Amino acid sequence: MQSSARGPRPLTVAIDGPSGSGKSSVSRAVARRLGLAYLDTGAMYRALAWWCLRAEVDLADVEEVARRSRILPLRMSTDPDHPQVHVGEDDVTAEIRTTGVSTVVSQVATNLAVRADMRQRQRDLIAAARDEGGIVVEGRDITTVVAPDAEVRILLSASEEARLARRARELYAADDETAVAATRDQVLRRDRDDATVSAFFDPADGVVGIDTSSLTFEESVAAVLAAVDLDPGSRVHT
Ligand code: C5P
Repeated sequence: MQSSARGPRPLTVAIDGPSGSGKSSVSRAVARRLGLAYLDTGAMYRALAWWCLRAEVDLADVEEVARRSRILPLRMSTDPDHPQVHVGEDDVTAEIRTTGVSTVVSQVATNLAVRADMRQRQRDLIAAARDEGGIVVEGRDITTVVAPDAEVRILLSASEEARLARRARELYAADDETAVAATRDQVLRRDRDDATVSAFFDPADGVVGIDTSSLTFEESVAAVLAAVDLDPGSRVHT
């Protein structure tokens, strides 16, 4: 049964974690269960990477990529049932998940001017959602940089083995040795690059750490809902 977190005061649930920690699927499910909006901030960096690739921008040209970021005609749906991403008239929801984008997205996301622009866009989206009750926001720097004042802050982690196996199942519908090997770049190298600009392996002060390595999807959702319930203003009824 759906419950609602919409109480007298707005609620932001910030969730960070590395690739394969389960944060996207868990965050979306939590948003649905709480009747909150949902924002996948990784999709915003992916949309910029997609746009730059399409325009054949040299991603090493930090100034040009930063300029592109500022003028990116990005529209993020914050409906957890329809988390669509549009760039201008193009619905890029599926295209931003392709290997071509995953391979280069860190190059765009480690551009500090891009991060400053994205941070402002994310804060604007969070502020708008809070007027409607609240939001679950997931990414790499939400608990620490984008929304350090969020009522609930959570860092999802998982062992390297668990993260590789999960991503391999998502990408190749298998978690055998070949699939895991092919997934390594998408998980380990990307996390290593991303970790040069954000801290998402260990929970910062006041951030609740949840290790999902041995949890099922439902158990992970329940663990996050339990953390939300610790917030004195929350309205979780399960
Ligand atoms: O979460 P996802 O894997 O879709 O994120 C794609 C990329 O976006 C990450 O690899 C990282 O480079 C970037 N990202 C970020 N900060 C965030 C969310 C994502 O740098 N808050």
